[in-house]
Amino acid sequence: MRSPYCRALEPTPGHLLIVAGTRPEAIKLAPIVSALLADGRLPLTVVAAGQQSLEVSRVFDQWGLYAMHLPQLPSYGHWRAAEREQRHRLRALFRALGADAVMVQGDTWSAYAAARAAAELERPLIHVEAGLRSPDPRDPYPEDALRRLISRRAWRHYAPTGSAREALLAEGVDDAQIEVSGSTAVDALRWLLARAQQPTWEDERVDLMVTLHRRENWDSGLDLVCRALDQVLQERPALRVLWPLHSNTRLAQRVRDQLGQQPGVRLCEPLPHDQFIARLRACGRILSDSGGVQEELPYLGAAGLIVRRCSERPQSVASGHARLCAASDPGFAEALRQLLDRDRPARMPFEQTSPWGDGLAGTRIARSVVAALLARRAPPAQALALPA
Ligand code: UDP
Repeated sequence: MRSPYCRALEPTPGHLLIVAGTRPEAIKLAPIVSALLADGRLPLTVVAAGQQSLEVSRVFDQWGLYAMHLPQLPSYGHWRAAEREQRHRLRALFRALGADAVMVQGDTWSAYAAARAAAELERPLIHVEAGLRSPDPRDPYPEDALRRLISRRAWRHYAPTGSAREALLAEGVDDAQIEVSGSTAVDALRWLLARAQQPTWEDERVDLMVTLHRRENWDSGLDLVCRALDQVLQERPALRVLWPLHSNTRLAQRVRDQLGQQPGVRLCEPLPHDQFIARLRACGRILSDSGGVQEELPYLGAAGLIVRRCSERPQSVASGHARLCAASDPGFAEALRQLLDRDRPARMPFEQTSPWGDGLAGTRIARSVVAALLARRAPPAQALALPA
């Protein structure tokens, strides 16, 4: 499908290609796309790159945005093979559309493939959510490594926090290329909360939500989490758990096999973002290994037990909204009990002093990107000089 935002298939000066591979990328790019469209000065095309096609289109649909969809990629045995295929497709697309610049978000292999494709074609790369760094570059893997590799190719870096900017400076990135914008995940949340969505299904009580999908938990982590949940449910038979399963069908099946018969657990398909947020806001507790959820917790006044050894988002731990505990930790079940028994933490306001910013990052980034790309497009100074 041709994007209505793509004003010409001929190379257009300043044409920006925005690539989203997965649900969280779409969630965090949507506020920027909206702000760029409201500004209206840059021709742009949004590309759903075919990593999580359905999830990406659901997000853009909610925002009333259109994307050009590449076909869903088949499931490859290894992310490197998927990245290679994705890069070839994107390179061909960037050429065909005459992209002048490319924007990617975060740390997925689709974002990395787009970054490499842009570098191979010598197109300037704009990186959103730049500079988050885990204390251990092998955890989360490959995401932390991919984010670092994207940084090396980026022309403009939009850092969500001051510490992300510090990390980029420490790696030798020129300060003039970095802007601290806040996180656009907060913009998306602010937008959803302003629309005051209520959960749409029957009025069923939920005490705990669960999401789990990170590669670090694919081996034993997922099974250990299921076992701990089962144990706590036996101790607390009144507990009600809602687990929206990930679109990775193999992971989803493993959860169904272990908890499908447990009466306290309701397993469901991934929820639309507004429904997920409405549920989390209402229940206030989550067991998750998600990156994006860590940023959402403070603004929902919700508590999370994050199933990881370390995180590239320590701010949500520091604010008291998240606690880290790997599934293999002998104290994991006890940490889960403590999550269920703790009071809800305070809700953070949408202000710049809050851990992930004020929810106006999209506008900030759009303004800066338009200025930077229009400046590139401007003819060199001597061309403008009048003859003597
Ligand atoms: N999310 C959603 N529906 C769900 C589960 C999560 O909309 O059923 C949202 C969640 O609010 C957050 C994002 O998806 O904004 C997190 O995505 P994910 O956990 O897949 O990836 P990560 O953030 O770890 O990269």
